Amino acid sequence: MDQSDVAGDLADILLTEEQLGSRLDEMAAQIDADYAGKDLLLVGVLKGAVMVMADLSRRLHHPVSMDWMAVSSYGSGTKSSGVVRILKDLDTDLSGRNVLIAEDIIDSGLTLSWLVQNLRSRGPESVEIATMLRKPDAAKVEVDVKYVGFDIPNEFVVGYGLDYAEKYRNLPFIGTLAPHVYA
Ligand code: 5GP
Ligand code: MG
Repeated sequence: MDQSDVAGDLADILLTEEQLGSRLDEMAAQIDADYAGKDLLLVGVLKGAVMVMADLSRRLHHPVSMDWMAVSSYGSGTKSSGVVRILKDLDTDLSGRNVLIAEDIIDSGLTLSWLVQNLRSRGPESVEIATMLRKPDAAKVEVDVKYVGFDIPNEFVVGYGLDYAEKYRNLPFIGTLAPHVYA
């Protein structure tokens, strides 16, 4: 899927497929170095992190296991509250494991800070976060993100796993929507 398939829906392309790819190369190299000689379990947060998980994991030389979680964050409108419900839990026992959470985007950071605490309570060796995107509000919450693809402005973005009303997830780049799409 590319820009011509969503004609007129996008206001702007924020990050191209090439930009995402070369940043993922760097992140993968860093992760390979940091986890050398250690076991590594990648945990993807459905549904948004599917693309990051697929593209990041294929760039790693390190052997990994992969598992998935689905969570829903209660909130008013588009803002999350930090009250989180697990819709699909991991199949994997985390005791002694090095866990790396793969995420699409951190906005308020509330969902992820809850998730990190939840996973840490299961006896892993370590829990870290890799996110493709991070918004400015994430700085307000106490969540330590080890790997960040790009810091982006406080705008609603779609593509590369991120949706608006379940659309645009299969765009290979990150863009902003034209105002008429929301209308
Ligand atoms: P928070 O960090 O606020 O707890 O929640 C992050 C979640 O909100 C993300 O996983 C994503 O589902 C959603 N989200 C936050 N910002 C955006 C955005 O700009 N675009 C899209 N499509 N989803 C977003
Ligand atoms: Mg997400």
